[in-house]
Amino acid sequence: MRSPTVDLDDGLRDLRRDLHRHPEPAWREFYTTARLVDKLERRPLDALHVGPEALGTDRRGVPDDAELADWAHRAVEAGARADIVDRLDGGHTGLIAVFERGEGPTIGLRVDIDALPITEAAGDDHHPAAEGFRSENEGYMHACGHDAHATVGVGVLDAVVDGDFEGTLKLFFQPSEEIIAGGEPMAESGHLDDVDRLLALHVGLDHPTGEVVAGIDGFLAVSQFRADFAGASAHAGGHPERGRNAVQAMATAIGNLYAIPRHHDGETRVNAGRVGGGTASNIVPEEAFIDGEVRGETTELMEYMDDHAERVVRSAAEMHDCEVEIERAGRAPGGESDADLAAVVADAAAEVEGVDSLLDNAKLGGSEDATYLMRHVQQRGGLAAYVGVGTDHPGGHHTPTFDVDERSIRIAVDVFTETIERLGREAV
Ligand SMILES: [Zn+2]
Ligand SMILES: [Zn+2]
Repeated sequence: MRSPTVDLDDGLRDLRRDLHRHPEPAWREFYTTARLVDKLERRPLDALHVGPEALGTDRRGVPDDAELADWAHRAVEAGARADIVDRLDGGHTGLIAVFERGEGPTIGLRVDIDALPITEAAGDDHHPAAEGFRSENEGYMHACGHDAHATVGVGVLDAVVDGDFEGTLKLFFQPSEEIIAGGEPMAESGHLDDVDRLLALHVGLDHPTGEVVAGIDGFLAVSQFRADFAGASAHAGGHPERGRNAVQAMATAIGNLYAIPRHHDGETRVNAGRVGGGTASNIVPEEAFIDGEVRGETTELMEYMDDHAERVVRSAAEMHDCEVEIERAGRAPGGESDADLAAVVADAAAEVEGVDSLLDNAKLGGSEDATYLMRHVQQRGGLAAYVGVGTDHPGGHHTPTFDVDERSIRIAVDVFTETIERLGREAV
């Protein structure tokens, strides 16, 4: 039995609660990144690639400069080191930490660090509120456990440095998972190219504290889009014939998005999640928009949906004599955990105190841009596994009462440390 390497009464609990108090959404993780860099700079690491050095060039969903400046300012006000925040220019958040010792293989661990635009519960029955570490960025919240993920990353680095691991460990602290935009640029940063084994983590997912899922599958590939329809306004009573009705185009598109045929090869999804348009009841609407998405059980099925959706939107615009601009937002491929790597995780987890239920695999049933990093490693002959570490959570993911059972942070640190040490002893 591996005895607990980390007592959560120490700095890890403080770190998790500190990150929880300062939740930051996609590409605005200034405080979070600075806090992690400040902590990791004190360790005997071989490299810290911060911000722009940790990301490839193409990024989607980056907010405008004023918004970025506001969050950077807010981070420094909250106590983040200004010299580190300065390095995250243009919202290049996130970092990669590298530790090398001896001749062993290169192991990667990916954790995500961003939060969500949700107002956190304030009642005494919500643990972070009762214990005084509720969100201080009102309207934003760590409602998916990424505060715990970042903390686990730091804990694993500490434990591996203090242990007898031989090889190279790369810790990927990825920004912008919630808008599925950070995975691709990190996968294209070059730092994944030599990774032989990649592990990724999610806590919770309706699995209780003490349960570990060695290899999660069933990621839905996803593609999000924004369609802006443009027509011409006119007096709705006097000269409706002079108008070109953008809301009609939008409505035609919505109806037909849901009419895309199902596919023989597997599950697909489509959603027009946010729509709008027009200005007044007596004006033929000049503008309308759809924020939508399609998903598929495989990347091919998602692309099938994506092709159809684009044709539907363009045809609907043409039908009503409008123009349309389609802008791509978040995107992630499907993914599978490699059974051989999941088996190593399962063997390691069986030795960890506090693990009382072990599943070889389970389906995610959602989307995750860790799949970009997994695919990058798998396409180069490496193996990847997405590991679930259960945590009792009173509210569901992405709700105001979500919370992490802090015991699961220690369990996750031990599961990954044990796995990484075993992988270090394997020939690749
Ligand atoms: Zn989430
Ligand atoms: Zn999440």
